[in-house]
Amino acid sequence: MKFQQIGAVLTFLSLNLKVLSLPFAERIGNPSEEIEPRRIEDIFGNNINIQKQSIASQLFRKKAKRQEERKVNKSEKIEEEWEKQQEKEEKEKEKENEEWEKQQEKEKEYKSEDICMTDECITSSKRILNSMDTTVDPCDDFYQYACGGWMEQTEIPSNSASISTSIIGNSRNMNIIKNILEREYKVNENLSPEEQELDKNLFNKLKTIFNTCMDVDKINAKGKQPLLDLYDKMKIYENRESYKEGDGLTEQLVTLNKYGVFPFFKVGGHTDYEKANHYLIAFLQNGLTLSKDYYSYDVLMVELRKYIRNILALIFDENERDIEVMADSILEFEKKIANAYVPSIKLQNPQYYYNKRTISELSEKYPKINWSLFFKKRLANHNIDFDINDETIFIDMTPEYLEKLNEILEETDVDTIAYYLEWRVIDRFYEYLSSDLQGPVKEFSDFLYGGSVETPLYGKCSSMVDDMMEMAVGKYFVEEAFDANTKPAVKEVFKNIKQSMIERIPQMEWLDKETSDYAIEKVMMIKENIAYPDYLLDLEKMTKKYEYLELDPDDYLGNVISYLNMYYRNDLIRIVEPTSDWRYSPQTFNGFYYPPDNSINILAGILQTPFYDSHEPDYINYGGLGMLVGHELTHAFDGTGRQFDKNGSMTNWWSLSTAENFSNAAQCFVDQYSNYTIVGSDGKNYNVDGEFTLNENISDNGGVDRAYEAWKISMENDALNAKQRNKILPDFTQYTRDQLFFISFGQIWCSKMRPEVAVQYLSKDNHAPSEWRVKGVLRNSKHFAEVFNCPVNSPMNPEQKCSIW
Ligand SMILES: [Zn+2]
Repeated sequence: MKFQQIGAVLTFLSLNLKVLSLPFAERIGNPSEEIEPRRIEDIFGNNINIQKQSIASQLFRKKAKRQEERKVNKSEKIEEEWEKQQEKEEKEKEKENEEWEKQQEKEKEYKSEDICMTDECITSSKRILNSMDTTVDPCDDFYQYACGGWMEQTEIPSNSASISTSIIGNSRNMNIIKNILEREYKVNENLSPEEQELDKNLFNKLKTIFNTCMDVDKINAKGKQPLLDLYDKMKIYENRESYKEGDGLTEQLVTLNKYGVFPFFKVGGHTDYEKANHYLIAFLQNGLTLSKDYYSYDVLMVELRKYIRNILALIFDENERDIEVMADSILEFEKKIANAYVPSIKLQNPQYYYNKRTISELSEKYPKINWSLFFKKRLANHNIDFDINDETIFIDMTPEYLEKLNEILEETDVDTIAYYLEWRVIDRFYEYLSSDLQGPVKEFSDFLYGGSVETPLYGKCSSMVDDMMEMAVGKYFVEEAFDANTKPAVKEVFKNIKQSMIERIPQMEWLDKETSDYAIEKVMMIKENIAYPDYLLDLEKMTKKYEYLELDPDDYLGNVISYLNMYYRNDLIRIVEPTSDWRYSPQTFNGFYYPPDNSINILAGILQTPFYDSHEPDYINYGGLGMLVGHELTHAFDGTGRQFDKNGSMTNWWSLSTAENFSNAAQCFVDQYSNYTIVGSDGKNYNVDGEFTLNENISDNGGVDRAYEAWKISMENDALNAKQRNKILPDFTQYTRDQLFFISFGQIWCSKMRPEVAVQYLSKDNHAPSEWRVKGVLRNSKHFAEVFNCPVNSPMNPEQKCSIW
């Protein structure tokens, strides 16, 4: 169990919750995924340092001032005139209303051939209607209106902290994977005999991992022996005297890294932000049992010590080692490391973590490690032929931490270091040992997550295969559950979303001509990664991809180590052989924008209800998939995305004044979302963090508008088929298609979360809570206000709106 990667949520979290961050997290942390650099590179957060006054707050102030002046100068005459004006406005509004109603009636005069009566449409229609709460006025609370029925009918599973469309979609995908893994190889008749052979071998690799994981008897028979064998090879305790010298400690780190254990820091390939399609070696703080935040809670530290102590007692002979001293030393050392750790929010900002250093600089700054020796040996272990010299550039992602680490290592005795290193091996591999050793893990997990959460063995093993061979799993997933006709349809949505952005950009008055022209170029250059990469179905390429994964049906832990070896080799080899492999597996229920590629990635796993269904009318799909693509596209122009150019290099293509206008407009969102609240389990209101969620809010807001416009474009571009593709659903003859577009959008965010967890997620998830992903966006949307004819200053149509894209 990797507590550290589950995230810093204190209570009631289960391993099932890896999808808790909801779709659109740039990269959802997978509890057993190990590649911190890749993850961090993908989780871009807010990095706009906004000190300037927002345009909105300036406007608001001006308006307040005008009102103030009006009060002061208010003579009777002025008052009379003002009242007359008011009356006139009222009348105009009434007229407008009447016209709107007439228009509505006209739009709703559906003939029977306008209504879609296929089985699929009837099912969709029921699903959408059942999810709604039509007793609520959509202009009062659109989230309740769109999702009220869903929330009433859907229970949060007892072992989960939340339920949402994304959690449901994700478990649907995991179920498909489980079914694939449980059956025997099925011959694919479409392949040549040679290909069939490769296909079978590939499938058998998946099966070997799965079966070895499922074979509990075999695992139990070995007890703790696999771990003791590792210690024998590593000689951590025996070598301890050598740690006094930098070289001795460095050699030991290289050995541990070889097995996929990363005390102190983790090393990986990282995109060169200044040179598109190139990679550098990066390193990053690492080596805690829990997240940094946990270490400031005394009560947690008591439990952590108990956990460490109990495990040590099961592994070591108490006649040879003083378990109590070991536990104390490990805990105190981890506390120091935690204290030195850089808070994760800082690591969302490339300006913070993208620090280039040469070996000479590293050696001068952190002399406790022999950096040249470390990298040379590390690469040699993976057979990577790369010349490391004094001028080689590295990315030092957490310099403040490394400086402190250097001091900590200076003042720590070698026994403590040895205990800590041994503990790191346990922390990495303990979960792969026999079940009779898992008592302390369960006890600690129960304490941390407030209840016993048992993931069924097949679930655990399916996830494991999914982690270790994600692209191979993706291949069988796609073959089993993905309709090949979907790709062209999604491509069409991409085309229209791009067009809507290209039409939108020149309308933005705050952009100067030059920046605006470049932004359009950037849109045109965005790469479209749809569903899965083509090489997935090329068996030779897939076989090569996994050639370094050596599996032994009798060696569960050995397979894990072999996987780690392959993983880190593939990660590092990119510095000599840059690849543009997909970063995300096809079965993922998610979408991503990845700035260093300038790519939008919409995976096969999310191309399902409620995001996309080829049988549903276009307006429904644009409310889901259209919004998804629009959201990702807007990420190219959020606070982080805008720092990358059309090729994916980190360059400034913004004029000074335009960048300032961007910051001002962004400040409007910060102020606006900071005022939104959710109710905690104590009944108190908790505010959304407008800064932390800024990039996502910008993307949510841009996403819906682009989707709406793109849908309109799709009808203009293909007027002939537009009618056929936009038939009304049988239960919705009282609605317009435009209204259904927004209902479809609202329903992608239907979710329920336990209030205590929801409050914690305000600072963990850089997306606003679901309720505000719907209401916050629609309150800013003029399209929405028109379509539902919401009176100005009704809850869903405030006068003051924020807009960037
Ligand atoms: Zn996003």
